[in-house]
Amino acid sequence: GGSPRMAAISAVTNYKPANPPMNFIETTTQDLYGANVFGKSEMKARLPKPVFKSVMKTMEAGQKLDPTAADIVASAMKDWAIEKGATHYAHVFYPLTGATAEKHDSFLTPDGEGSAVAEFSGAQLIQGEPDGSSFPTGGIRATFEARGYTIWDVTSPAYILENDNGTTLCIPTAFVSWTGEALDKKTPVLRSMQALNVQAQRVLKLFGYEDGALVSSTAGPEQEYFLIDRNFFFARPDLLNAGRTLFGAKPPKGQEFDDHYFGAIPDRVLAFMLEVERELFKLGVPVKTRHNEVAPSQYEIAPMFEFANVATDHQQLTMTMMRRVAEKYGMTCLMHEKPFAGVNGSGKHVNWSMGSKTQGNLLDPGDTPHENAKFLLFCAAVIRGVHKYQGLLRAVVATAGNDHRLGANEAPPAIISIFLGDQLMDVFDQIKQGGASSSIPKGTLTVGVDTLPPLPKDAGDRNRTSPFAFTGNRFEFRAVGSGQSIAGPLVAMNTIVADSLDYCATQLEEATGGDPAKLNAALQKLLTDIITEHGAVVFNGDGYSEEWHAEAEKRGLINRKTSADALPGLEAPEVKALFSKYNVLSERELESRMETYLEQYCKTIAVEAALMVEIARTLIFPAAVRYQGELASTCANLKMLGYDFDTNTLDKVTSLVKDLQDGTADLETKMAKHGFADLKEESRYLCDSVLPAMLAVRTAADELEGIVADDIWPLPTYQEMLFVK
Ligand code: ADP
Ligand code: MG
Repeated sequence: GGSPRMAAISAVTNYKPANPPMNFIETTTQDLYGANVFGKSEMKARLPKPVFKSVMKTMEAGQKLDPTAADIVASAMKDWAIEKGATHYAHVFYPLTGATAEKHDSFLTPDGEGSAVAEFSGAQLIQGEPDGSSFPTGGIRATFEARGYTIWDVTSPAYILENDNGTTLCIPTAFVSWTGEALDKKTPVLRSMQALNVQAQRVLKLFGYEDGALVSSTAGPEQEYFLIDRNFFFARPDLLNAGRTLFGAKPPKGQEFDDHYFGAIPDRVLAFMLEVERELFKLGVPVKTRHNEVAPSQYEIAPMFEFANVATDHQQLTMTMMRRVAEKYGMTCLMHEKPFAGVNGSGKHVNWSMGSKTQGNLLDPGDTPHENAKFLLFCAAVIRGVHKYQGLLRAVVATAGNDHRLGANEAPPAIISIFLGDQLMDVFDQIKQGGASSSIPKGTLTVGVDTLPPLPKDAGDRNRTSPFAFTGNRFEFRAVGSGQSIAGPLVAMNTIVADSLDYCATQLEEATGGDPAKLNAALQKLLTDIITEHGAVVFNGDGYSEEWHAEAEKRGLINRKTSADALPGLEAPEVKALFSKYNVLSERELESRMETYLEQYCKTIAVEAALMVEIARTLIFPAAVRYQGELASTCANLKMLGYDFDTNTLDKVTSLVKDLQDGTADLETKMAKHGFADLKEESRYLCDSVLPAMLAVRTAADELEGIVADDIWPLPTYQEMLFVK
C-alpha cells in the first residue's frame, strides 16, 4: 500500500545494519575513558603547578578561583582542544526548558594581515554573552534588557564534542542575567550544594569532625527510555511533534510481543547501546548500561554516581548522545514519560546521597555505633525535609508528561512518602517509642545502639511503589520524569536537607552548649522529636493501594494529582522562605520558575490538543469514513441482490464516527477559550476541561482502530512500533 504506515513497515522490514565504527575495534575502553575531557590529569600535565592547585581548590574544595589563573587555563585548554582538532568553542548552558543550549564561536581571529590566529583568552573562557533572549525566563528578563551571560563553571570539566561536521570544545557554564539572577538550571544546583555543605559542616563539627572537607551531594540517575524505528516515528505526527502517541489502541491483552518478528533488530539496539557507552566514556561519563525494562522496546541506562553538579551535566550529555546515536542506527530515542498509553512509562530514578573525602558516604549506615548515630541524624534530616517540603518535591517533578505516569498504577503515586525498609523503620520506631531515657541505656554515646540491629548495607529495593526510597546507602527519588533535567529535583533535595541539618545543628548546639558530653542525650531527644513530628511521611507498604490513599489523607500527606495542582506548590510561603534563606533562589527567581513551568505545561497541552484535532480530522476521520463507505456500499449491494447483511459493524462505525466528529468539535471549542487571569487559571482550565475532551476524542479513535480495515488504518499501531527489540 502507499500509506506512510505501510511504507514505514516496509522500510523497517528491509533495514540493513550499518557497520560498526572503526574505533570500536581499534581502541580499548580504558584508552577511551575521559579521552575528550580536559580533566584533572590533563590539567596537571599542562598547567603550572600553582595554577593547577588553584583550579583544584575550586573544583574539590569549593573555593573561589584565582582570577589570574583564567588566562593560563584558557590558553592550555585551547592548545589541548586544537590538538584534538577543535575549531570552535562553545559555552554550554542549561535554560529552564530543561534542554541543553550552546553558543559556538570560532577560535580564529583575523590577524589583520590576511590570515587568522587561534585565540582564546581567559575572558572568553570565563564569560560569554549568547543571544539567549528567546529562552523562557518567567518574566525575569524583558527583551529590551535581554542581556544574559554564560559564566564558566570551573567545577564541571570542559570536553570535546565530535560531530560529523567538526569538533568543538564545550565549556559548561552558568547562565545569568545582567542583574546576576539565575536564568538556568545549573546555578541553583551549585548554590544548593554550597548551602548543604555549610550546614553539614556544622553537624559534623558537633560530632568532632572539623577537617572541613567539602560535603557534596552525589547523584546517580537511572534513565529509562524507548527505542523505536525512525520510520514509524516519522509516520506518527503525534510522536514527531509531541513525543508521545495521542492515539493508539492498547495491544491485545496478554499478547506476547514476538521477539522473532524482526530477527535482526536486537543487534541494532545492542549496537546503539555500545556506541552510546563508548561516546560517553570518551566524555568521562561513567556509564553502565542495562538492557531490560518492563515494556517492550524499553531500556535503561545508568551511570556511576558523581557529584550532583557533574552528574547533572553528564545526564544532559547522556540524553543528547542517546538521541544522536539512535538516529545513526535508524531509530528514535523516546524520553517522554508516557509515549504509549497502557504500556509502562519511563522515569528517571535519581539516587541521591551526600558525603566527603574524609567522611565517605554520610548515608551509609556503617557498622560501628558511633557512625550509626551520625548516620541516623543525617537520615532523620532527610525524613524531616521530605515531610516538611512534600509540596516542593511534588512540584519539582510536575510536568505535563509526568502527569500521565505519576498516579497510574505502575509508577510511584503522586503522594510523596519515604520507604525506609523494615530494619530502618524498626530502628526509628524504637527511637520514637523508647525516647532518650527509658529503653536506651544512659552513658553510651550512640542512639539506641544496644537495641540497634546491624543495618544491612544494601537493604535492597523491594518496594517499587515508593516515590522516595532508602536503598541501602542512599535515597532514590523515583518520581522524576524520564525527560526531565535532574537539576530541579537535586536543588530541592539539597536545599531541604540543608534546612534540616541547619535545624538539627541549631538544636544540638543549644542543647549541648558546646559540651560534647551532652551530645548523646541531645541527639536522642532530637531524633525522637523528628520521628514523632515527621514520621508520618514514612510508609513501607504498597503505594498503589486504595488503602494507602485513604491512610495518607488521614496522616495529612498531600496528594496533588496533576501539575496544575502541584506547580503552585512552588510559591508556598515555606518554600519561598526556604530558598531565600539559603540563597538558592530569590523570590523573583522562584516565581520565574513557577511561571516558566506553568507556561510549559499549558503550551504542551495546547500543542497536543491542536495536533489531536489535526490527526483526528485529516487521518483518522477519512480512514473511518472510507471504511464506513465500503461497509455501506456492500450492504446496499447485497440488499439489492436480496441477501441479508448484518449492519452491526456499520452501525458501530457510524456511531463512533459521530463520536469522533462531535469530540473533535468539542475539543476545538474548548481550546478556543482565551483571556485567563493568569497561568494558574489557564493550567487549571486545560487540566479540567481540555484534557478530558482530548480523552473523549482518543476513546472514539482507539475504538475505531479495532474495527476499521487494517489496510486503511493510517497510523502505525502500538504493536508495530514496539516490535523493535
Ligand atoms: P539498583 O539497581 O538497585 O537501582 P544500582 O547499583 O544500579 O542499583 O544503582 C543505581 C544508581 O545509584 C547508580 O547510578 C549508582 O551509582 C547510584 N548510587 C550508588 N551509591 C550512591 C550514592 N552514595 N550517592 C548517589 N548515588 C549513588
Ligand atoms: Mg535503583
